Amino acid sequence: MMTAEQYEESLRKLNLVVYMFGERLRNVVDDPIIRPSMNAVARTYELAHHPEHEDIMTAVSHVTGNRINRFTHVHQSIDDLVKKSKMGRLLGMETGCCFQRCVGMDALNALSIVTYDIDAKHGTKYNERFLKYLAYVQKNDFTCDGAMTDPKGDRSLPPHSQPDPDQFLHVVDERKDGIVVRGAKCHQTGAVNSHEIIVMPTISMREEDRDYAVSFALPGDAQGIVYVVGRQSCDTRKAEGGNIDQGNLSFGGHEALVVFDNVFVPWDRVFMYREYEFAGRLVEIFASYHRQSYACKVGVGDVLIGATQTIAEYNGTEKASHIRDKIVEMNHLNETLYCGCIACASEGQREPSGTYSVNTLLANVHKQNVTRFPYELSRLAQDVAGGLVVTLPGEKDFRSPDTREWLEKYLKTKPHVSTEDRMRILRLIENLTLGTAAVGYLTESMHGAGSPQAQRIMISRTVNMKEKQKAAKKLCGIV
Ligand SMILES: Cc1cc2nc3c(=O)[nH]c(=O)nc-3n(C[C@H](O)[C@H](O)[C@H](O)COP(=O)(O)OP(=O)(O)OC[C@H]3O[C@@H](n4cnc5c(N)ncnc54)[C@H](O)[C@@H]3O)c2cc1C
Ligand code: SF4
Repeated sequence: MMTAEQYEESLRKLNLVVYMFGERLRNVVDDPIIRPSMNAVARTYELAHHPEHEDIMTAVSHVTGNRINRFTHVHQSIDDLVKKSKMGRLLGMETGCCFQRCVGMDALNALSIVTYDIDAKHGTKYNERFLKYLAYVQKNDFTCDGAMTDPKGDRSLPPHSQPDPDQFLHVVDERKDGIVVRGAKCHQTGAVNSHEIIVMPTISMREEDRDYAVSFALPGDAQGIVYVVGRQSCDTRKAEGGNIDQGNLSFGGHEALVVFDNVFVPWDRVFMYREYEFAGRLVEIFASYHRQSYACKVGVGDVLIGATQTIAEYNGTEKASHIRDKIVEMNHLNETLYCGCIACASEGQREPSGTYSVNTLLANVHKQNVTRFPYELSRLAQDVAGGLVVTLPGEKDFRSPDTREWLEKYLKTKPHVSTEDRMRILRLIENLTLGTAAVGYLTESMHGAGSPQAQRIMISRTVNMKEKQKAAKKLCGIV
């Protein structure tokens, strides 16, 4: 398993084509805007070497028998699934942000199931190919992207009817040695911190869309892949040089638009090719795994609750009954989220491939809660924190001899609480609820792994309504 330092060095060797603020970014690793997201992924490597976290952060590969980082593991039991949820909470708490490595883990697991199912129907050899790729990822302890979301153009039209056929990623050429693909993936989490990118279709498809039913993996720096990094609220604070205003000193996440400009994929890295009837299944399985992965939000919620309790104590409101009740409510919501990601793991099942999948209904219920509760937690945190979350003067004013005196005097609450500490905790609450971390904690909670309606559709499809009706009718004598 790589150490955090080896991970950083391995990224330096990649030759990614990255653009940010209108310019080509040559040194991604040391860029102050990107660096915190690299630090967050590095934590997934670092904790795997801590003896107290070994059980959660590592696993034994079913392909090679070697001990591996759990982020490269294909779940072989319910225990693996439960540990995955615990790992998400642990890392959310450690980083206070999106640590990016789960999308690749979820893509690997979804492909381990669907390649097997395609082979069973079509007599293809995708699963064998996939397992070789998995062993390669595990041996090198790679971070992989899971890239599912296409730009989608006009949402009312299927891929083949779009005025621009590239709105969904598709095959444009078939060669003896592989295929050529064109299109893009949006919102790619961890895009420029990853060694590999694993592409999957974004929606269910019909025969007319078969060129869009394609899944494959490539090195992140394969020729023709271009990354355009997304902006985040307050992102340039990371480049200001201080260490108060960014809220979270070391960690953050990032996303990017990933363009595939006629990219060649060799056959040994193609895991689905025009088997359109399996596109929907791959989407569903990946989405369920990723909905479970939102255990990360529980860990970030832990940080927000800790920050809220701290600001209450700094402000002298911690004993007020309504403040205590609000913090109880925050804990209640956060632990309810934890129940969801543990429950869908505990109720998981073995698929024909041998991989364990999560319970689809419970994973969707969990994600539906994730689309709401972090917003309510954020509302309560802002209520308790007070208006300074958004009106606090900056670090430079705090450091300036012209204004420091005023800030020290008028931002003071209790003798033993330093003004600087009060500013720091307020900035962390701002970061989580309005700043760079809110990208992951709020909007990604809403849309990541599918917008809320996608879960409602899955809930209505998977719930056993007949059984409920039977129970009700039996009790009141309807035959
Ligand atoms: C921070 C962040 C990180 C992400 N990371 C990743 C990642 O790593 N990998 C990845 O693959 N994806 C990632 N995603 C993408 C995520 O899965 C998508 O945002 C999600 O699927 C919604 O797609 P969209 O953003 O295109 O919104 P849209 O699909 O445009 O949805 C907007 C609204 O329109 C509704 N809508 C859309 N289409 C229809 C329709 N046909 N009929 C009726 N209503 C419709 C939706 O229900 C929703 O309410 C990430 C997203 C975010 C915000
Ligand atoms: S949002 Fe959470 S589940 Fe998704 S990649 Fe980031 S940390 Fe992992």
